[in-house]
Amino acid sequence: PHADPRAGAAVKAADRAHVFHSWSAQELIDPLAVAGAEGAYFWDYDGNRYLDFTSGLVFTNIGYQHPTVVAAIQEQAAKLTTFAPAFAVDVRSEAARLIAERTPGDLDKIFFTNGGAEAVENAVRMARLHTGRPKVLSAYRSYHGGTHTAINLTGDPRRWPSDSGTAGVVHFNAPFLYRSPFYAADEAEECARALEHLEATIGFEGPATVAAIILETIPGTAGIMTPPPGYLAGVREICDRYGIVFVLDEVMAGFGRTGKWFAAEHFDVVPDLLTFAKGVNSGYVPLGGVAISAAVADTFATRPYPGGLTYSGHPLACAAAVATIGVMEDEKVVEHAAHLGATVLGPGLRELAARHPSVGEVRGTGAFWALDLVRNAETREPLVPYNASGQANAPMAAFAAACKKGGLWPFVNMNRTHVVPACNITEAEAKEGLAILDAALTVADEHTV
Ligand code: PLP
Repeated sequence: PHADPRAGAAVKAADRAHVFHSWSAQELIDPLAVAGAEGAYFWDYDGNRYLDFTSGLVFTNIGYQHPTVVAAIQEQAAKLTTFAPAFAVDVRSEAARLIAERTPGDLDKIFFTNGGAEAVENAVRMARLHTGRPKVLSAYRSYHGGTHTAINLTGDPRRWPSDSGTAGVVHFNAPFLYRSPFYAADEAEECARALEHLEATIGFEGPATVAAIILETIPGTAGIMTPPPGYLAGVREICDRYGIVFVLDEVMAGFGRTGKWFAAEHFDVVPDLLTFAKGVNSGYVPLGGVAISAAVADTFATRPYPGGLTYSGHPLACAAAVATIGVMEDEKVVEHAAHLGATVLGPGLRELAARHPSVGEVRGTGAFWALDLVRNAETREPLVPYNASGQANAPMAAFAAACKKGGLWPFVNMNRTHVVPACNITEAEAKEGLAILDAALTVADEHTV
């Protein structure tokens, strides 16, 4: 890329003047000025190009600036840029059809939102009205969004400053064998004990008070923990027995990320509600939504649904979704993600784990992987403490800096790095990324004991 440091400095100064950033102490951040992006790469104004192993915030599932989607957005802008949600608009109906045809089971009605958190808020509202019950159960080690209910459902430290105690949320432990909350020896035991724990939690809370259980099908930001065989089917069975609405949050795992259209397909489960966003249109225009089962939709057949958004089903966002889903079909992006996981990323990351003492576990599928970094492989002590900052987080900061120096932008969360590139990244690009990770992991290795 062409270097223009003066332009970069101006972009950064303008940002620092008026942009208030998410999740950040405003004076302590130093955002990189981005000059452009294409496919799996982006570049800055200093002539540095980065292989993006984060897909933004795990949303550019078909990479940056896909020409087909860019053209579709331009065409829609010229035709009908916007229209209010109460009307029938061709491109909105088409997006809903394409999504409903891909979601599992009878999830055939689509309520559109602007993103994932709003999808979660509305799924919870639907579940509460459908059951007439107040509480929602969600997992520790989860992320569901930044709005009131969604952040209270979240099971990580981002919830703490917003914890209201009024959201009607109860947390439980989901299975995670590597750091088993149940002292289980294998996946079968972890699964059985996790289901027992969930059912006991429902019993103590009072089944008639529980509207919904919400789970990320494969938890994303919290560490990409693929649930053991039988767990989600077991949760489905518990929900059926107690009349609880089962919500799967596929905001991150959906739309090809795991090598299936939706991660639920890996486990042969059908939730009552499924939330999506991000990959639905590769994040080109803000869009999310809830896919709704026939039974829940029926609750609002003659009774009004008391929720809405000015931009629900925005034509520009829906045009981007229609085009993105078309690209994913035409270019076999979902199949490619599965292939990449099975033949390049999975084997490549396991090979790194075998050589680097800092890699405690490799987890994932498709284009959705996590390396759990440890100080000691035997004790599994995390490379940095839970929720560490400043000096305590220095080993992870050094690892991230080494990745960037090598030309790779890493996804780093606590003691983990996630490998979540565009789902249509080439094998050569994936291997280039693995080689950079290899070098950066030697920096992490220096902090092992
Ligand atoms: N749910 C999951 C599983 C997510 O990963 C996210 C975002 O990362 C959200 C919900 C919130 O989505 P948004 O940031 O679009 O509101």
